[in-house]
Amino acid sequence: MARIVMKFGGTSVADLDRIRHVSELVACEAKKGHEVAVVVSAMSGETNRLVGFVEDLAADTQNGGAIDDEYDTIVASGEQVTSGLLSIALRRRGIKARSWQGWQIPLQTDGAHASARIKGIETLAFNRSLKDGTVGVVAGFQGISPDGRVSTLGRGGSDTSAVALAVAWGADRCDIYTDVDGVYTADPRIVPEARRLDRIAFEEMLELASQGAKVLQTRSV
Ligand code: ASP
Ligand code: MG
Repeated sequence: MARIVMKFGGTSVADLDRIRHVSELVACEAKKGHEVAVVVSAMSGETNRLVGFVEDLAADTQNGGAIDDEYDTIVASGEQVTSGLLSIALRRRGIKARSWQGWQIPLQTDGAHASARIKGIETLAFNRSLKDGTVGVVAGFQGISPDGRVSTLGRGGSDTSAVALAVAWGADRCDIYTDVDGVYTADPRIVPEARRLDRIAFEEMLELASQGAKVLQTRSV
């Protein structure tokens, strides 16, 4: 029996049918007797939609102060929705599951709203719940700041949520599911001779991610 973190990005949870499909993949691991934590992104396009609301209102402001704390409150809501939806889809398959928001775990961050860094993850209650056979469906991308506000980890941050949770919880594996079939030497849509890599070292992945490869958020590497 292993402890597994499974992370699904926005395109993997883009609509209810894909969420049903994800629930099937998760159920398959849970039925093998593994302890499973799932980290989800917002449905594809949702975070951009929410950011759009913030930017629209922010443009009204003639002489307003910072809005980053409320930006986080708004944009973090996309992940809250998918965590709840996936929990329901799992329960419909007869799998015990519950959603966890960043503040509920809690996943503590610094106070740098909109690009917060993870300071610590308290896994006591989380661990107890998963030991009990309940799949933990975690809203990625979000945490709680030192002053008790919702914080977010920067765009693409749910990769970092997944990796950090895997470390804190002592997972055997962190599987990042995505909508492409692997990491290539270059973007195959632009460079036709790009090769898919079977293995990649951290240094190379870091290089690719920081040059904008988009497969993983740089901080998660
Ligand atoms: N939903 C957030 C974003 O679009 C975080 C993530 O998907 O990793 O940036
Ligand atoms: Mg991503």
